[in-house]
Amino acid sequence: MKEFDYIIIGGGCAGLSLAYELEINDKLKDKTLAIIENRPEYKRDKTWSFWKVFDHNFEDCVIKSWNNFSINTSEGFHKLSSSSFPYQSINSEKFYKKINSKISSNPNVSFFKNLKELNSKNSLIFNSIFEYKKDKSKLWQHFQGIEIETSKNIFDDEIINLMDFNCDQKNDVHFFYTLPFNKNKALIETTWLSNLEDQSLMDYDLQLENYIKNNLGIKSYKINFIEKGAIPLFYPSLKNDDKTVNIGSAGGMTRLSTGYTFLNIQEHSKYIVENIDQIKKINEYNMGKKYHFLDKIFLKVLKKHPEKMPRIFFEMFKVSSNSVIKFLSNKSNIFEDIKIISRMPKLIFIKALFN
Ligand SMILES: Cc1cc2nc3c(=O)[nH]c(=O)nc-3n(C[C@H](O)[C@H](O)[C@H](O)COP(=O)(O)OP(=O)(O)OC[C@H]3O[C@@H](n4cnc5c(N)ncnc54)[C@H](O)[C@@H]3O)c2cc1C
Repeated sequence: MKEFDYIIIGGGCAGLSLAYELEINDKLKDKTLAIIENRPEYKRDKTWSFWKVFDHNFEDCVIKSWNNFSINTSEGFHKLSSSSFPYQSINSEKFYKKINSKISSNPNVSFFKNLKELNSKNSLIFNSIFEYKKDKSKLWQHFQGIEIETSKNIFDDEIINLMDFNCDQKNDVHFFYTLPFNKNKALIETTWLSNLEDQSLMDYDLQLENYIKNNLGIKSYKINFIEKGAIPLFYPSLKNDDKTVNIGSAGGMTRLSTGYTFLNIQEHSKYIVENIDQIKKINEYNMGKKYHFLDKIFLKVLKKHPEKMPRIFFEMFKVSSNSVIKFLSNKSNIFEDIKIISRMPKLIFIKALFN
């Protein structure tokens, strides 16, 4: 059986980001890499969006960048702008194509369908897959998005709507998210923060149809693309050791209060490659203990008081836009943290801290 210096299990966002980072930093000139990926083909399956708080390798895969954002609740509409940190969306198909064409020219990189095809005894393994047990106590961000195209120009493509809470919450947290790629094309998502047990929240097609018709006032459109997913808002129980490093969602790269993962994966990949010969140092990495702590409290409040979340998000976005963006992108300083925390309802957060 073949042996490799490095094995990446799962050639998705984290696996391919790491492979690309290894390749562009010449770490695969005299080392071999096997990527284990079982999908039959790479095609557009996701749209990764985030605030660009640092430069990344995939500017050429960006569909669009925006400087204006809004949030709506029954209490009103709040608009924010930031020229320092644009919000970007990446087309996963372009991302997969770019990376696969770069790494396929290196004879030291090979793809396999199953780890059993290799002898992995002496390899350093980067794992991006993990299985979840169904559990009522676990929170997920689950959603479906459709990219729609209209015959007339109806969207304002200068501004995205991050959260529109003007919809049925059904005792959970529910909002719509609209990314207008141009004046007649937008990705519209229905998003829930809840456990995954309640099937009545999952009639996503109907939710989208009603929202587009009744809230956006759009009568006719065609659907170009559908994406569906569930992001765990809890950390996996996987542990790193001196042979295996977990990456991506499996490596705890999801920010639990937001579901944002893409840019954290990029930062993690860079860190791994910079320290590729020091496994101990690689295993010291974390996204920021402060955010682990704050998100844990935030999610306790969310579970106990879902009805308060539209207001809590609305208040959070009233802080200066750069502060809130940095906070949500794990880049805030202590003064920005205090600004955000001071807008939260004190009593329920203090209670959550002690429960
Ligand atoms: C639809 C969707 C939209 C998202 N949008 C955003 C966003 O806008 N912004 C953001 O920051 N985050 C977003 N996320 C969250 C996160 O960025 C993505 O889930 C991201 O893809 C996580 O990367 P990953 O490498 O951990 O997992 P994946 O990208 O899912 O990669 C895992 C890979 O492992 C492969 N695999 C699975 N099982 C096996 C097996 N047994 N053998 C071999 N291969 C296997 C899969 O085919 C896949 O390619 C989104 C998630 C989803 C699902």
